[in-house]
Amino acid sequence: MMASTDSSRDGMLPVMEAFYTIQGEGFYTGHAAYFVRLAGCDVGCVWCDVKESWDVVPEQWIPVGRIVADAMKHPSRIVVITGGEPCMYDLTELINHFHREGFRVHIETSGAYSLKGDADWICVSPKKFKFPIDEMLQSADELKVVVFNESDFDWAVSHAEKTKPECRLYLQPEYGKSNKMLPVIVEFVRIHPSWQISLQTHKFLGIP
Ligand code: SF4
Repeated sequence: MMASTDSSRDGMLPVMEAFYTIQGEGFYTGHAAYFVRLAGCDVGCVWCDVKESWDVVPEQWIPVGRIVADAMKHPSRIVVITGGEPCMYDLTELINHFHREGFRVHIETSGAYSLKGDADWICVSPKKFKFPIDEMLQSADELKVVVFNESDFDWAVSHAEKTKPECRLYLQPEYGKSNKMLPVIVEFVRIHPSWQISLQTHKFLGIP
């Protein structure tokens, strides 16, 4: 059963896992950051590599104060809230709590839902199984399109046209298709230099 939006539990959010690592993708690649992976996603990507995040189990609901306290055990003051689909939830309280403790708050989302909360950095990675809404494309600081095949370039450009001018544009080969798609992506970026290449460097580094 996929989770539905549930903001009825005041002061609590469902966490599938949280860990301290190095951001492996996009503009903040190489920065130490604390990742909070919220449970629950109804986007349904067939290639999803975190399908265990789709469902929410009761014991995953924990107070936002505890989420922040766990993050504070580590020295970086960047927190990445990912999922699942984190924007299924009202993140206002969690983000405000992180801000009070001096964190930058980054969100990684499919863009299928409005963001409730004032994040410092929004990465939208559009999915074909539930399209991003225009509001999220317009507020994205970073658009990250995962490339599986050549038809994905047109799809990427159609989303980039809806972003703000300063939005960073990234093409990222799906990890299993890297050998095939990287040369094509390199050629595309050589011709379209507003785009950059993002690699899943954490997978090369062997870290989460
Ligand atoms: Fe998986 Fe993310 Fe797609 Fe949800 S949006 S199904 S978590 S890849």
